Amino acid sequence: MNLTIHRGTHEIGGSCVELATENTRILIDIGLPLVDEEGQSFNLGNYLKLSKAELVERKIAKDIPGLYKKDNDNKPPDAILISHSHPDHYGLLTFVKPQIPLYLSEGCLELIKATYYFKGINPDLDTVVIIENKKSISIGDFIITPYLVDHSGFDAYAFLIEAEGKRIFYSGDFRGHGKKRSLFDRFIENPPKDIDYLIMEGTGIEGKDCYYEKEEDLRDKLVTIFKENKSLIFFACSSQNIDRISSLYSACRRSGRILVLDPYTIYLLDVLRRRAPKIPQFDFKDIRVFFTSDSNTRRLADDKTLYKYKESKIAYDEIKEKKDSLVVKPSYGIRKAFAKNGYIEGSTLIYSMWSKYFENEKPFWDEYGISPMHVHTSGHAGVTQLKEFARALNPTTIIPIHTLSPDRFPEYFGSKVRMLSDGKPTEL
Ligand SMILES: [Zn+2]
Ligand SMILES: [Zn+2]
Repeated sequence: MNLTIHRGTHEIGGSCVELATENTRILIDIGLPLVDEEGQSFNLGNYLKLSKAELVERKIAKDIPGLYKKDNDNKPPDAILISHSHPDHYGLLTFVKPQIPLYLSEGCLELIKATYYFKGINPDLDTVVIIENKKSISIGDFIITPYLVDHSGFDAYAFLIEAEGKRIFYSGDFRGHGKKRSLFDRFIENPPKDIDYLIMEGTGIEGKDCYYEKEEDLRDKLVTIFKENKSLIFFACSSQNIDRISSLYSACRRSGRILVLDPYTIYLLDVLRRRAPKIPQFDFKDIRVFFTSDSNTRRLADDKTLYKYKESKIAYDEIKEKKDSLVVKPSYGIRKAFAKNGYIEGSTLIYSMWSKYFENEKPFWDEYGISPMHVHTSGHAGVTQLKEFARALNPTTIIPIHTLSPDRFPEYFGSKVRMLSDGKPTEL
């Protein structure tokens, strides 16, 4: 069997792994890079009309035979497995031949569909097969068993892949300190046995810029801040970080504050309701929706979805009255509206994403003399957890992926490490 990591051996982002026997070829993840050619954060809209050759030339996609639309000279892969709904794992989907079967989780599918909905893209998802925790599937020569993992991406999976007597474990993105950390603990106690190759992410291998506070400790920290602080609080986090929004809501409940979200975030939570009934929803106690005037809200209004959220709508007079007991997630539309009405002055900002992302927003907050409190914990495993994970699986070989520093792996995993290069097939 051949392993080719098309992208990700020396990069965080754009993950794409191919495994091929003589009869069957599967891809695991088909990610977009995190940044464009200029090193700026990636905007898919700029690339949708490009041909495969242009995508490859601009280093957006790798030249993978048979994968892309209009490539009729090569046989398509037999399946694509997607580990989770972060664009660095599924982002090439719009360029891919629609007849290739796609294996992904229900939560992942809902978030991908919602993301495309807001971008006005109508992806072909007719070939989706929903995967479930520890339910094996067979694809040609391969047997694949998904393992639900703890990650900042919702409903994320690692994969055990078996073929030709070999057992390969692909970690996907994971951590052991989030809301689902009991999954990590149970996995460590009872890992799959006899692993030959572990393809393991190493985002946190450098130990820089990552805080490995437990998600529940972060929530407790928020409760204290929310109680002690007597002003309007803005809490900036990713709308797709469902664990964080759950922690945020829980902290609001424990401190008697009302959580205000924008319709975009509310919609993402709403589409996951069936998969995860406990995550915060627009009709939960003390959750309110501020109707922003932006393209996302217009889209929801145009297809009549917005109407559903009307019962939880918060208007300006109520904001004015309850200002100091609100926690508001500041989308661009909310920032604009709140600034216009004088609600930014004297407020508090908590920033709950990677601190580098704050640079884009900094000028806005600087104008009001507001500097953020950083309260965040990484979506990825730190060195200690990577070591625990690798020790539990005890593979013969460890192959680094999703890392800027594969050369740091031997420091922790010694001679087991085999560093690969993008696009070069390796026989397993
Ligand atoms: Zn991820
Ligand atoms: Zn990733």
